[in-house]
Parts: sequence; C-alpha cells; structure tokens
Amino acid sequence: MLREVAVGEKDKLLTVLTHDLGVITVSAKGIRSVKNPNISSAQLFCYSNFVLYKKGDFYWLRESDLIENFYGLRSDIEKYALAAYICSIAEDFACVDEDIPIVERLVLNTLYAISNELADRKLIKAAFEMRVASVFGFMPDLFECSSCMGELNSKTVFDVMNGGVICEKCRQRFAADVYLIRDDSPDSYESLEPVIRFDITPDVLSALKYVVTAKGERLFSFKLEKESLEIFSEVCEKYLLHHLGRGFSTLDFYKSMTE
Ligand SMILES: [Zn+2]
Repeated sequence: MLREVAVGEKDKLLTVLTHDLGVITVSAKGIRSVKNPNISSAQLFCYSNFVLYKKGDFYWLRESDLIENFYGLRSDIEKYALAAYICSIAEDFACVDEDIPIVERLVLNTLYAISNELADRKLIKAAFEMRVASVFGFMPDLFECSSCMGELNSKTVFDVMNGGVICEKCRQRFAADVYLIRDDSPDSYESLEPVIRFDITPDVLSALKYVVTAKGERLFSFKLEKESLEIFSEVCEKYLLHHLGRGFSTLDFYKSMTE
C-alpha cells in the first residue's frame, strides 16, 4: 500500500499498487477500529492480498491477508520518510500498465532493503532512483562516450540532460558550455537552460552501470566510499527528477529529516 488518508472516525482511503489493476483507490470502512480484522494487513507500506468489491466507480475492501508488513519502516521516522518517497514515485510511474509487475517487485525489494537496513540508506535511495528511471525508458548510456562514441577513460562527466557519459576529450571541447558541477547554484544562471553535468569518479561510473543492469534482488549489493556515494546520490536524484520534470513533497520531507 502506497498511501493512506484517514476519513471520518474509523475509515481510510487507501492508495494501493495492485498487480492487476495498477494504482487504485480503495475505501476501507471501519479499518481504524481496533476490532477490525484487517487492521494489521491494511496498514501503510504493507504487502497484502486484498479481496475487493466494486460499487460504482469505487473499490471497497472486503478482506485482506498480510504477506509482509515491513515493520522496520514504521519504527524509524527517516525510514518511514524514505519509504513514503519511494511509494510516491511508484504511484507516479505505475500508470503504465505493462510495467506494473516490474515496479511492484522493485518497490517491494526497496522497502525490504530500507526496512532491514540491507545497505546505506543513501545508496538504496539512489540505486532505486536510477533503476526506476531506467525501467521507464530513461536508461542512460554508460558504456561509451555519448558524444564521440569513444572509450571512457578515468575522467568522465555524467550528462543529466542527455542521459549519458562524456569522455575527457569531449568535455574539454564543451568547456565553453555553462557548466554546473554537483550543484545548480545561482551563480550559474548566465544561461536560461544550464547544462547539468557532474564530474564522476570511476567508482561512480561502475555503480551506475551496476544499478541499471543488476538482477532485481541484487540491486543494493554493492559498496561505495563516502565521497563517491555523495556524488552517486546527487547524480541519481537529479537524473530522476530532471527526467520526470517534477519534485516530490515526500522527498522534501525526507530531506528535512536527514539534512
Ligand atoms: Zn568523447
């Protein structure tokens, strides 16, 4: 379940990512009553089997059966905030029907990783962001220079807007462009459309290649040194938000917890 809103004294409106119907809104009557048998399986972030019925344009919850409750997500406000951000991205993406099982699996693996602290939270967030962008058609070209198609050497630049990596030679050719390094600081607004590029280390390039190609269940099984993790995390967040063309209030909330 991606989102919930309390209604009246005992009811909730649930936003649910389903295998067959995509993202739907479900009305859950009496769900906040302690006596309700569905109270633990219809909680935020839970992975459950739902039996629904449809009345008019609305789905109603008849019964639910818990598969995984991701308890860890509700015991720590930072984990909770990150999970809420992951769910709001899923909600945004899951309107493309044929990819729903992929999004569903990716979201479940990510919530599990956050809940059980399988890796650094920053790494989980960034890997999810780059992977979800790739799943939805924004996979960056990381295996050759996107300008000259040449081999990539140790000094490379990630180009957020064009979704690729540029080699040192091409970077020098483009040196006259407005150039942002790891920040879109107000100093750079000579151009109305600044080029968003990041200097990346070989470790960051390897990590990017890893997250766009790794098997789903191995997505978070890699490590980065602190400095590379900072760059990786900025690259992935900026890349996803740029290509979606929007921000998320859940991301602002998560950042207010961590910064
Ligand atoms: Zn090049």
